[in-house]
Amino acid sequence: MPLVPCRACGHNVDTSALACPSCGATDPGKKISRQQRETRAFVLQLVVALLLFGGGSWYVWHEFMPVIKAAIVKQNQGG
Ligand SMILES: [Zn+2]
Repeated sequence: MPLVPCRACGHNVDTSALACPSCGATDPGKKISRQQRETRAFVLQLVVALLLFGGGSWYVWHEFMPVIKAAIVKQNQGG
């Protein structure tokens, strides 16, 4: 069985160990820590937010630009 350093304390533990014998951290051999999972979730939320923001901006741009243009033209013509 391969040994890996515990993600919490660095003590060498078996990859199949359920808990670190040194510090007691659960799943010491797991490569993805909770912090990495949270970072992934954060990045995913960021991507979704950017997509929503980008789509919203595109919609507003195409929905209101003709109105704004017409208003500017009207203002220039009428004074
Ligand atoms: Zn440990």
